[in-house]
Amino acid sequence: MSVSGFAPSVADAFGAQTTSNTTEIELIESLARRYGAPFLMLDCDIVRHQYQALKAALPGVELHFALKPLPHPAVVSTLLAEGACFDLATTGEVELVRDLGVPADKTIHTHPIKRDRDIRDALEYGCKVFVVDNINELEKFIPYRDEAELLVRLSFRNPNAVSDLSKKFGCSEEGAYAIVTRAAELGITIRGLSFHVGSQTLDADKYVHAINRCNAVIRGVAERGLPVLKVLDIGGGFPVSYDDNTVDIDSFCAPIRSALAELPAAVAVIAEPGRFIVAPAMTSVASVMGQAERDGETWYYLDDGIYGSFSGILFDHGHYPVDALYWQGERFPSVLAGPTCDSIDVIAEKIMLPKLNNGDLIVGRMMGAYTSATATEFNFFRKAQIIVLNEFMHDASLAPVVTLEV
Ligand SMILES: *Cc1c(COP(=O)(O)O)cnc(C)c1O
Repeated sequence: MSVSGFAPSVADAFGAQTTSNTTEIELIESLARRYGAPFLMLDCDIVRHQYQALKAALPGVELHFALKPLPHPAVVSTLLAEGACFDLATTGEVELVRDLGVPADKTIHTHPIKRDRDIRDALEYGCKVFVVDNINELEKFIPYRDEAELLVRLSFRNPNAVSDLSKKFGCSEEGAYAIVTRAAELGITIRGLSFHVGSQTLDADKYVHAINRCNAVIRGVAERGLPVLKVLDIGGGFPVSYDDNTVDIDSFCAPIRSALAELPAAVAVIAEPGRFIVAPAMTSVASVMGQAERDGETWYYLDDGIYGSFSGILFDHGHYPVDALYWQGERFPSVLAGPTCDSIDVIAEKIMLPKLNNGDLIVGRMMGAYTSATATEFNFFRKAQIIVLNEFMHDASLAPVVTLEV
């Protein structure tokens, strides 16, 4: 088996096969000895690489990392050092970035439905840009009209996305005009429009359509003599490769770049990528707790499962490449199950696996987005700990300079 985007298979000195390179095998084994399975390896070099790749694919677009898929301090500080901005949705996320020293003017708050307390918590931090998609929500900002500025979120349905984020949130174009009109009456500033085409959107035309419609609304608002809109937020949804269908982000974004070029020159564009930045950055490592033969298949029970790091199988329709760390010889039809006593706790059925021993390590790839973030401790199985790799810049010139007193 080969996993796209990773080091090609190598055979180690004993002729074993693996999807890892020998350095990675040594690293995983030493971490397993030191910390014990299960764990997740978070590689900040990959976070950095993903951010730079999307930045290059969307020149001039300000990227706000959406914390939701992996709200981890190391991700925030890595991205902050890269110059990223942040997309927050809850007070917990506000506190996380605030405690890491993220300047508030690098953040926006994009939950379309908020309590008064949520608005005040964000404003106290200094985050001033919020999202609304209806008049009821707009009116919550009457007391804050001197400080807060709003984006109006539009809905563009996308039933093919992994998660169609325009079903639960977003208004129609007519709804957007109504909100902009009412905001002008109330003296509330509308800075622009936003949308989210749906997570893991593999069809760039969804963005193109949404950008074109927003372009029409931005022009329509100006034609109606309403206050001019200055921002378009094209949301998240940018896809990653979970299988051999490799996504090339630069060519994926080409039609998006063309659509953005049609916007009035004064419109600033921002995006809220989540999954794209973190999905490839985490690798899960679990170990075999026990095994049984059932109906001609071997069931391997791991110390991580559906209620833990693999929760995205349920919540995010996830299909993560999983395999033994290394193996020799034949493969057999097998089942990979999680540790809890619940029958739903199965990671993969009809998977071809080598003969495994208790204690052998199983590696899951592309496990950074919507995995540990939605994990539980059901049945008292503790969540896999996250082990951070490459958190600091390799470039020595950027390392803090220590001056010794003579
Ligand atoms: C979840 C979410 C994101 C991130 O979406 P991805 O598909 O992970 O890129 C961005 N913006 C908002 C408002 C979200 O709810």
